[in-house]
Amino acid sequence: MSTSDEFSIANSDAALCRRRKTRILATLGPGSSSHDMIRKLFIAGVDVFRLNMSHGEHSDKAELVDRIRAVEREFGRPIAILVDLQGPKLRIGKFADGPITLTEGAEFRLDLDPAAGNSDRVQLPHKEIFAALEPGTDLLLDDGKIRLTVTACDGASARCKVRVGGPLSDRKGVNVPGVVLPLAAMTEKDRRDLSFMASQDIDWFALSFVQRPDDIAEAKKLVAGRAAVMAKIEKPAAVKALDGILELADGVMVARGDLGVEEPLEKVPGIQKHIIRTARRMGKPVVVATQMLESMINAPVPTRAEVSDVATAVGDGADAIMLSAESAVGDYPVEAVRVMDRVAHQVETDPSYLATYERRTALNTTAEDAISSSAKAVAETVGAVTIVTYTTSGTTAIRASRQRPNIPVLTLTPNMSVARKLALVWGLHTVKTKDVESFEHMIAKAKRMALRHELASGGDRIVITAGVPFGTPGATNVLHIAWVTGDELDDYDESVDA
Ligand code: PEP
Repeated sequence: MSTSDEFSIANSDAALCRRRKTRILATLGPGSSSHDMIRKLFIAGVDVFRLNMSHGEHSDKAELVDRIRAVEREFGRPIAILVDLQGPKLRIGKFADGPITLTEGAEFRLDLDPAAGNSDRVQLPHKEIFAALEPGTDLLLDDGKIRLTVTACDGASARCKVRVGGPLSDRKGVNVPGVVLPLAAMTEKDRRDLSFMASQDIDWFALSFVQRPDDIAEAKKLVAGRAAVMAKIEKPAAVKALDGILELADGVMVARGDLGVEEPLEKVPGIQKHIIRTARRMGKPVVVATQMLESMINAPVPTRAEVSDVATAVGDGADAIMLSAESAVGDYPVEAVRVMDRVAHQVETDPSYLATYERRTALNTTAEDAISSSAKAVAETVGAVTIVTYTTSGTTAIRASRQRPNIPVLTLTPNMSVARKLALVWGLHTVKTKDVESFEHMIAKAKRMALRHELASGGDRIVITAGVPFGTPGATNVLHIAWVTGDELDDYDESVDA
């Protein structure tokens, strides 16, 4: 496809509507930070860009936000930005001369010395960890690829024997499975990052190494409504406290990288299904992350197993699937997005998946749930082509998505930050538009928008949900069936809705 074709197709609302319902997150990094690459990734299907606070400076992140917002303005579609806070992740320092290679049986020291490391030692800048170590403690480095066993420890350094060797580069992670480390939910760095990024135009914070509901409560207090808060589940303690964490969090991520280090790898698929089911039950968006298309860091096509993994996450009902190193540092970021797009689309239309995919979820006793589940049932009965949902806070749209209707949900909101936040949520095509003032206006606009975004044509029926009084959060109480004639855009002045 030529660049000009890409541009014209991408510029049509129909293409950007993305009939695919599962959302795609892509992490930005050195391989994907230019305006041109962000634009290409968006055209290929990215709905949410992830900025990883474990790397880079505040000024770099502010620039990325500006570039993403420029693409958003160009295409007129809301894009979500998710800021992933590093959390109390233990990481080694840097090496003087690039990566080293550890060999099995060799000695290696971790210490508090900030000097650049070499093949004998490297900094581990976490004083508290040395107090918790003792001879015989296992340390896992770089997502468990390297295994060390502590042979001696004095509170400021640990002498280790290399059990499993391999290459080791700057700032790789360290896990201490089986030892409860006395770590605060958010580090000083997280607080600085949160404070800076909350002043930027961003939509979600992801909180790493959550252990308990209080961690979310603390983050929400600091965020103070300026963004939504996602809990990354990567510790056994968080899996145990999942319901309590999800009560408070706005969304959840199955962070399989660290989860697969902290838990035996073979338990991760079951935990993933459990987290997705729990999130679906509680109506919270859920993201499946890490190593989804890992081989595409260096190859233009994925393995069969990776395709199957993406399909499983989509079939399990994840709202979104995520690229990490594939898009941040890989050689084929755009191709990786296209693979996710194709696999998700295939699963969503594959008869073998549809039975599990469309499974209804239990309802809460709220008006939003009553109206949203009825909207799906009514739409199926009358053969409607789209559900149009008016939402002020985003809640009704999320409840509508939770029902996993097999037709698009066109979400209309006057609030740009809500529109952006919802870009992460399954099956929603969100448009920021002026509030409506009357019942007639509400129906007319729903028809116009469905036509304009090519989600209905003349002769189709649509189902509309809204709340009266209009513009009041939590007021959803109207369900209406409307016919689209196809004439609704005649003499239409876009500024009426903008
Ligand atoms: C993970 O561990 O899977 C994850 C997403 O977190 P990070 O990439 O920050 O380690």
